[in-house]
Amino acid sequence: MNSRKCFEDFNLTEAVLRAIRDEGYRQPTDIQRAAIPEILSGKDVMATAQTGTGKTAAFCLPMLDMLQRRKGNGLRALVLTPTRELALQVETSFRTYGRHLPLRTTVVLGGVSTNVQVSALRNRPDILVATPGRLLDLIRQKHARLDEIEILVLDEADRMLDMGFIHDVRAIVSGIPAARQTLLFSATLSPEIAGLASDMLKNPVYVATTPPASVAVKVDQKVLFVDQADKGSLLVDILQRSDVQRALVFTRTKHRADRLMRHLSRNGISADAIHSNKTQNGRQRSLAAFDKGRITVLVATDIMARGIDVEGISHVINYELPNDAENYVHRVGRTARAGAAGIALSFCDASEISMLRGIEKLIKYELPAVEGHAFHSTTAAALRKQVPGASGRPVQWRSFGPRGGFGRRPGRLGR
Ligand code: AMP
Repeated sequence: MNSRKCFEDFNLTEAVLRAIRDEGYRQPTDIQRAAIPEILSGKDVMATAQTGTGKTAAFCLPMLDMLQRRKGNGLRALVLTPTRELALQVETSFRTYGRHLPLRTTVVLGGVSTNVQVSALRNRPDILVATPGRLLDLIRQKHARLDEIEILVLDEADRMLDMGFIHDVRAIVSGIPAARQTLLFSATLSPEIAGLASDMLKNPVYVATTPPASVAVKVDQKVLFVDQADKGSLLVDILQRSDVQRALVFTRTKHRADRLMRHLSRNGISADAIHSNKTQNGRQRSLAAFDKGRITVLVATDIMARGIDVEGISHVINYELPNDAENYVHRVGRTARAGAAGIALSFCDASEISMLRGIEKLIKYELPAVEGHAFHSTTAAALRKQVPGASGRPVQWRSFGPRGGFGRRPGRLGR
């Protein structure tokens, strides 16, 4: 780690600094402090950083600076991302941070017509952000050429491996000149990621700012024991609390997400659901409505968790615990972004105790239990206590409503 305290210390081009000022960023985040100088010096970088740490700017800012200084013509930078949502966010970041530069960015992703993407590629953008499958199709149809790429970024590389994109990624990378700079970002550092890095990076500098699988300290995490049949009522109760500004609710299945959304709507709460069965345009519409505050609650499945970068999510609610403990970290990472505070509530029924234990083992933290809610399940709470090492010490909410539920009822949300 180095001692750089402000963006000016990186010697970034003035147009980039101006965009950073426009965004109101005062100081670089840890990952930015560590990665930006290494990237600017031309080295390959392998970084472990989670979303919410400012990792996108950590690669966008130096890339824009370098591409601008070197000049050049044609497609010179490629960013591969696992999900369409992330691709769109990264594209937006390049446009935002590059708004005072003449560089052009475009995005290609699946789920939408190729025509617009093909004509955007004909306009010879400088930077391309892409999901692997669609890009490979376009390369095979000779609509995209990567022989002038100078900088390659593999963003959320662990997720790309999880989602089975490794063959597509390898096929794409095989067409990129070996004399390039490669940056690999991953939330976790597994042997598979290390293998990928050793195949694709040259003498990389390792940058790790957040320990893998940690939750931002500003997230207030709690578990609520509740029977499966009462989860819907508990959720409505919580969402009607006046301090819920914007809530992201997670389910394990798409079907449950849709059912839950209908349940919330029936109870006067404006909600939408986002999952992989929806069209890309449908997902973008839901995200935009959530971002603009037209809906208060978004119900999502895990596959969507990493792609959601909406500011001001006050609550992440795990209606169902994730099967894979790491997804807990990604879900909870949607709140308390860029230093803000956030609340993460996990509903746990009797069948989910082992998932809870898996999560607590991973994050090395025993989630405090809230027992003062109207739908507390003594069965589930007792089961947890049977698990060796779990104290399950309860905490109380600040105030309680007429039914002993989540009180302070004024200002029902989402009407
Ligand atoms: P990311 O980890 O790239 O998903 O970024 C998370 C959020 O942090 C985004 O909404 C960025 O706009 C914001 N962000 C990035 N860098 C900074 C910074 N230095 N100061 C404040 N916010 C930032």
